[in-house]
Amino acid sequence: MIDIDVFLRTVMQAVQDKKVPIVDLIAVQTEDPFKVLVATILSARTKDETTAAASARLFAAAADLKGLAALSGEKIAALIYPVGFYKNKAAYLARLPQALARYNNVVPDTVEQLITLPGVGRKTANLVVAVAYKKPAICVDTHVHRIMNIWEYVTTATPLETEMALREKLPARHWLTVNSLLVAFGQSICRPVGPHCDACPLLPDCPQRGVAPRRHPGTTQGPETGLKKFISWNVNGIRAVEKKGFVQVLQDLDADIIALQETKARKDQLSEELKNIPGYTSYWHSAERKGYSGVAIYSRLQPMHVLQGLGDPEFDCEGRVLTLEFPSFFFVTAYFPNSADGLKRLDFKLRFNKKFLDFAQDLARRKCVVICGDYNVAHKEIDLTNPARNTANAGFTPEERHWMDTFVQAGFVDTFRIFHQDPGHYTWWSYRFNARSKDIGWRIDYFCVDVAHAGRVDKALILKDIMGSDHCPVQIDFRMDQPG
Ligand code: SF4
Repeated sequence: MIDIDVFLRTVMQAVQDKKVPIVDLIAVQTEDPFKVLVATILSARTKDETTAAASARLFAAAADLKGLAALSGEKIAALIYPVGFYKNKAAYLARLPQALARYNNVVPDTVEQLITLPGVGRKTANLVVAVAYKKPAICVDTHVHRIMNIWEYVTTATPLETEMALREKLPARHWLTVNSLLVAFGQSICRPVGPHCDACPLLPDCPQRGVAPRRHPGTTQGPETGLKKFISWNVNGIRAVEKKGFVQVLQDLDADIIALQETKARKDQLSEELKNIPGYTSYWHSAERKGYSGVAIYSRLQPMHVLQGLGDPEFDCEGRVLTLEFPSFFFVTAYFPNSADGLKRLDFKLRFNKKFLDFAQDLARRKCVVICGDYNVAHKEIDLTNPARNTANAGFTPEERHWMDTFVQAGFVDTFRIFHQDPGHYTWWSYRFNARSKDIGWRIDYFCVDVAHAGRVDKALILKDIMGSDHCPVQIDFRMDQPG
């Protein structure tokens, strides 16, 4: 068991010169609960720099509740753009003056009252109580939840469970400060992807539960070991995820190949930064319809050939499949169709699936095939939280699951299940009902490898702490020097 006093003191020293989380910064600058509340609402799933700029624009137009009440939802949206989910947040803020009237136009100082306000969940409420009012509250965001589990100080599955466990266990003297300390620490040293353990003063005593430290020269996974890191991520709009720090995340992931699905953009619509990520060449297969579907691959490895689509215009106009050929394997990424509400596209999806299986089997006759992407199906009951309630819903119908059975029987191995047989591992969470923070999810993103070459997979992971999309990335480490 770690000594939490020593650990938090060490973290405090380690982050002294690091960036202060934006909400704390606003609190220091204003000590105004209204501004802290608004900035906290804006900060969810948004880079600190973007939150800071949007807060400044909004507070210049509306310095207090009265000022906010005078703005329309459209005006607020224009002022806070491009924070994540700016339309939803503008709607919440437009309703805030009316909601606060219940509390005599004063921002409440209890979690119970704060969570009755539009757009305020437990995390935001705890943060406002702790930061604006300096009252005992533990704000558990993704960094606190993740790092407390890495330290094995708690063993919990969701931020809410972590909050409850910390209320029992964490000495009250740390409640107010733990969030800002661990956010700064999580953003700088104990990062969600490739934590900088080599530079961390806690390394000798840290349990490092579930951690894959960053690679650094001459230690792991370099070309000399023959291991390459492959990642697949449905980004749900590359231009949207760019605003949430995608380029930095991609660099932190430090993968050799990163496949993306649902890019919703053509290459000519991308920023120069996205087109030119140092070290990578990108390949694209976009839909003819603007802002729809689309796949891409960023690769450090130079392919011999690039193939777009399945060779069938019915499917290829939707930009769903992209294949890179390397000397000893094919790397395929696919964005399988969603059978949609009312299963309107189930027939289309099943035709696509059949065509895709023929395509994959053709490739597998020639050499090893790695197939990653959003398969848009949870295969087994253990692959989603509520199987019984979803048997008639898109992504878990008997027809879609049957195709996945067929795919596996045809010789394609779901590599995650080689290493993890237990339930509770998900890659997609609905944006509704706080599903991600409650971990009510589905595992629909996979890396499959043909059975003859599945032994080349050294590790399979779900990177559930990577935010920015309603999906998280999935990863395999793949042996280059072991063709069989
Ligand atoms: S040693 Fe690594 S995992 Fe542990 S706290 Fe430091 S950075 Fe995080």
